[in-house]
Amino acid sequence: MYHRGHAADFEDWVAAGAEGWSWEENLPYFDMTEGNKQIGSLVSWQHHSDKGPLPVQQARGSPHCLDNLKLSRAVGVYAWQSVCDSYNRCQRDPFNKPPLYQPPFVYELLSAINETGLPIVADMNDPNTPEGFCIAQTFNDEGQRWTTARAFLKPRSQRPNLSVKLHAQVTRVLFEGTRAVGVKYVDENGVKCVVRARKEGRVENQACTIIGEVCKLRPFRGLNCLLRRVILSAGALNSPHILLHSGIGPGKTLEKFNIPLLADLPVGKNLRNHVGMTFYFILTNLNNTRELDWSVLTQYLLNAEGPMTSTAITQLTGLLYSSMAERSRKQPDIQFFFNGFYAELSSTGVVGEPAEPTHVNISIGWLTLDSPNPLDPPVFDPGYFSHPADMVMVKDGARYIQRIVNSDTLKGYGIELDSEYTSGCAGAGAEWSDTWLECMARLHTDPQNHQLGTAAIGLVVDTQLRVYKVQGLRVIDASVMPTQVTGNPQAPIMMVAERGAAFIKQTWKE
Ligand SMILES: Cc1cc2nc3c(=O)[nH]c(=O)nc-3n(C[C@H](O)[C@H](O)[C@H](O)COP(=O)(O)OP(=O)(O)OC[C@H]3O[C@@H](n4cnc5c(N)ncnc54)[C@H](O)[C@@H]3O)c2cc1C
Repeated sequence: MYHRGHAADFEDWVAAGAEGWSWEENLPYFDMTEGNKQIGSLVSWQHHSDKGPLPVQQARGSPHCLDNLKLSRAVGVYAWQSVCDSYNRCQRDPFNKPPLYQPPFVYELLSAINETGLPIVADMNDPNTPEGFCIAQTFNDEGQRWTTARAFLKPRSQRPNLSVKLHAQVTRVLFEGTRAVGVKYVDENGVKCVVRARKEGRVENQACTIIGEVCKLRPFRGLNCLLRRVILSAGALNSPHILLHSGIGPGKTLEKFNIPLLADLPVGKNLRNHVGMTFYFILTNLNNTRELDWSVLTQYLLNAEGPMTSTAITQLTGLLYSSMAERSRKQPDIQFFFNGFYAELSSTGVVGEPAEPTHVNISIGWLTLDSPNPLDPPVFDPGYFSHPADMVMVKDGARYIQRIVNSDTLKGYGIELDSEYTSGCAGAGAEWSDTWLECMARLHTDPQNHQLGTAAIGLVVDTQLRVYKVQGLRVIDASVMPTQVTGNPQAPIMMVAERGAAFIKQTWKE
């Protein structure tokens, strides 16, 4: 899902020490990554860009689908039924683009939401409509999900100053004094290697120094192509792990694992993630069919269209305010996800439609080392519900779900909580009571994959993402984000990456 966050999210960053990272200052960098394909038809130029390489739109099939549809109608094959459904929607697209795949149940959910009086919006990124449910725009095109590697790296894979080493795990940053001069990594055969950054004023024509056995890495060609700095972008759990093994972190932790201290910094101390709870419901009145069957697979493999071009009801999301939120800040603090396409859907025929409210939590966790071996994973405690406000917000989210479930639309489907799933809280009071919700939240705690903050601006890196107390080392990923953004974080992380690239270019100019 593509969500930039709200202006207030970045006010929080600035308050946490990220001077120069306000909404207005970040906006041009958001624009650099986004390649929105529904400007004019769904979203506005004011809040989106079509200049970036990453396609952003509601889940859309292949452009060939219209021809295929005509063909399928001619031969009357039943398997193409859902194409027709898509085609009907496609005809409503004023630009007559390839079909969006939006299963009918998405619209049933929207109508249930509408019944409760909760807002439905076209664009969750429009600052004028911060609150509401919508069919989200995601990173996809022609029936496939897009990654940043596909959008940014692949088109530049032939550049002489780019060398990508796959299946390599960086274990630590190498230093000469306090200057980062390279990284150490282990390749897929367990061979330890070193990639060195060029020292100022000296040329090295070999990108990989040999330790033990020979490592074959394409040597960098030419003076200008050689690295001068080390940049860590291993994500919010692995960048701090590498920093700690490199001697950058809390002195006491490093002492415990006999790692020589280079810079005493609170690495791993500000771990933040969104957390929520999940409910499973059964639609008892639904004449159930298995959606992911051979015809759907064939449809996708042959023509990149149909249900597999989208994420079923997962494309629906919503942002709402909890009782803890200050509405005037236009910063909704609860998000809703509706999961679909679970494996059991096709194997048992049971329709389990989990709904999860998740929220911008106040609790802060930590990450640290578990052993002196850099190949061992780090340990982390996200500290969910350690701040009492978090439980209030998650319960508020659950009460919105209760309202939606009580709509006539969903009652018509005979919607019921899955009793097997709730059985662990059977003795915790009546369903939807305060005590029952608290039990459910603790039993079915559902963290999102939105970890960040472990090498935050102001704590571990400066406002240009340079690690304090050492030279030649930047962290550019979710680790540097000081506080959570509302909603999905990938767009803000890409904005951080663009700003990081701009800082590097600026440094080279100087
Ligand atoms: C299933 C799932 C669905 C998601 N959906 C969405 C969504 O719809 N919208 C959204 O905004 N966000 C979504 N997210 C969250 C988003 O993907 C992450 O927040 C984002 O990718 C984090 O970016 P990053 O660059 O900080 O780290 P990452 O994307 O994790 O990149 C880190 C990279 O470093 C590599 N690496 C790690 N350690 C090492 C090492 N020691 N040596 C070498 N390489 C290493 C990793 O392999 C990885 O390629 C989703 C996450 C998951 C898991």
